[in-house]
Amino acid sequence: MIAASAAGPQPRWQVLWRTAVTDAGALLRELGLAHLAASLPEQDAGFPLRVPPGFVARMRRGDPRDPLLLQVLPQLVEGDVPPGALLDPVGDAAARAAPGVIHKYHGRALLIASGACAVHCRYCFRRHFPYERETAAAGRWQVAVDWLRAHPDIDEVILSGGDPLSLSTGRLAELTDALRGLPQVRRLRIHSRLPVVLPERVDESLCRWLADLPWPVALVLHANHANELDDTVGAACTRLKAANAHLLNQSVLLRGVNATVEALTALSTRLFSVGVLPYYLHQLDPVQGAMHFAVDDAHARALVEALRQRLPGYLVPRLVREEPGAPSKTALGPP
Ligand SMILES: *Cc1c(COP(=O)(O)O)cnc(C)c1O
Ligand code: SF4
Repeated sequence: MIAASAAGPQPRWQVLWRTAVTDAGALLRELGLAHLAASLPEQDAGFPLRVPPGFVARMRRGDPRDPLLLQVLPQLVEGDVPPGALLDPVGDAAARAAPGVIHKYHGRALLIASGACAVHCRYCFRRHFPYERETAAAGRWQVAVDWLRAHPDIDEVILSGGDPLSLSTGRLAELTDALRGLPQVRRLRIHSRLPVVLPERVDESLCRWLADLPWPVALVLHANHANELDDTVGAACTRLKAANAHLLNQSVLLRGVNATVEALTALSTRLFSVGVLPYYLHQLDPVQGAMHFAVDDAHARALVEALRQRLPGYLVPRLVREEPGAPSKTALGPP
């Protein structure tokens, strides 16, 4: 196997990757919020702060309620374990079909392509996921590909993680080269937060890889707030579209971050202005450490109903929840 770094100098995004802010005190100082450092939790619950400087640059200075800061800053309330908080809230363990392969829904299989993320999101439903054991990368593509070959009814392969675009383009190409040998594959889907948090990842080599794929590609971005989508992200979306990717977005409904009609309206309209359609708005998965972000169902439904009244239908995301064992995401209808 050829490591991508052997092919030449390291791509710029990999250099930037290593400049991520990992010290909460330093982050607060940079934002003019040094006085808040005393209220940081002592333990990071095994899920340390991590955020690229380009994302920090989009945070408002001096605002402890900034919606981007709240997505990444460890909080004392994460130590609370309210009833109903789970380690594996979406039943991933029960849906594991092979190492790194999760199969829940008809025709689609999800590959845990990587355990790494450029940003650590405090609401992450896989924050307790056993990535060391359950990753399809690291020379283990073959197991996933063999499983797919034995399941010809799967016509859509979904690359997830972690963040699949944290893999080098060479690694991604190894996987898609192997998938080319499977006649059943009709669509490739990629779920990634990288084009938003580290838009430099969308470089020439990634775009060439995308454009050369033999299947239509859906790229699902994960942005939760309009402020995440600055011009650097807009330019990355333009490059992705030029490489023929269909751009969708999924968000998580997060108390204190985006759970207002104004924030959700701004997110949808900003997404469209950079060429992205809203897809899902997820109710938070009840994962230990993130329950303080939860929004109750009645409020969630009312928010989406209000969106329906002020936006064109194509800018209203589908409000869903993931229920372990269900045959699809579960839609939450109007109030
Ligand atoms: C969410 C999810 C999918 C994709 O579901 P869609 O409704 O097609 O977006 C596929 N597999 C798994 C395991 C999932 O969690
Ligand atoms: S990028 Fe996705 S997988 Fe990674 S920490 Fe954030 S929510 Fe979790």
